[in-house]
Amino acid sequence: MAAKPKVAVVRCPDYERERVFASVKKAVDLVGGINAFVAPGMKVLVKPNILSARPPEDAVDTHPEVVRAVARLAKEAGGDVMIGDSPGGYGKNIDEAFEVSGIKKVAEEEGARLVRFSASRQIEGMPIATAALEADRVISVPKLKTHSITVLTAAVKNTFGMVTGLHKAECHSRAPKAEDLAKILVKVYAITRPCLSVVDGIVAMDGDGPSAGRLRPLGALLAGTDAVAIDACAARMAGLAPLDVPVTKEAYARGLGEADLGRIDLVGDDLNGFVMKDFALPKTIRYLTMMPKPLLESFMYFVKFKPVIDSGTCKRCGLCAETCPVDAITVVNGVYKVDYHKCIKCLCCHEVCPYKAIEIKGNALTKLVWG
Ligand code: SF4
Ligand code: SF4
Repeated sequence: MAAKPKVAVVRCPDYERERVFASVKKAVDLVGGINAFVAPGMKVLVKPNILSARPPEDAVDTHPEVVRAVARLAKEAGGDVMIGDSPGGYGKNIDEAFEVSGIKKVAEEEGARLVRFSASRQIEGMPIATAALEADRVISVPKLKTHSITVLTAAVKNTFGMVTGLHKAECHSRAPKAEDLAKILVKVYAITRPCLSVVDGIVAMDGDGPSAGRLRPLGALLAGTDAVAIDACAARMAGLAPLDVPVTKEAYARGLGEADLGRIDLVGDDLNGFVMKDFALPKTIRYLTMMPKPLLESFMYFVKFKPVIDSGTCKRCGLCAETCPVDAITVVNGVYKVDYHKCIKCLCCHEVCPYKAIEIKGNALTKLVWG
């Protein structure tokens, strides 16, 4: 019988530098120790989740102290360390995101190279960052958050950031529905398969994540080699069944990892001590789960959500327009507007807006049913 995948859960109450390092080291030690993953001279890519130019206290991006701890461990093991990602916005935003998120400073201080995922090679029809393909090891360092389409984002979804540039937005335009997008995300995970994932759940996010939700001081780090098993544990923390998360369901169905908590070797602190009883799902998901299952199938087709720009809050940075895969956002008389005839409701604009100026609103049916 195959050995159960190990997932370490380690309590870490805040982002104090030395405490984070000690907690990350403990978590990695519990799943084999850094030397099981990194040997001297290896090129190691540390891949955080840098969604947009938001400061660490907003909990939108992986906290720089968690990234620092992983990079430092990999360096101590003799690795030649790079830190890289492909944030939303794909153009001018990348440098700004590295700067504001604190990742650039960490890279400089830890002697790691900061890489933008500009060059890529086609693998199974997906442009995968050359930096990821040429690294001897990839260590994924995701953030634990809700996501308006995929319910949660953690270990498996973080690998999608290894797809370069605008192609990510094209994937959204091809697959606006959760189940279809999950297939693409899992395909990227199968191609990139990090050797280790260390999830930042010290301050997680619920509600309308991944960028406009509520901060949840959870005090948890998760580590392991099986990203599907880690996501199953993250779902448990959110009070969800692992297979309620479409990406976990798809990856499990494809045999890429374990989603049955009974078949995961949990080490470290007690997973059940981290379950958030009042975890709020994104509005887009919450409405659907509130509906009785028999009604859901008949109504689902008619339930629609759309992004609405609040011109009073909008700072006219242009990031939403730059990110939109179908050019549905234009400037009319200095005001950013969505053309709903073009919009495919992928909600990428909501994800990347650094100022929470894009709200997700339901259609008349959602108001009628849920008030
Ligand atoms: S809605 Fe947000 S992302 Fe778009 S221009 Fe305004 S502030 Fe920038
Ligand atoms: S306007 Fe927003 S939700 Fe609509 S297609 Fe563009 S990015 Fe997606």
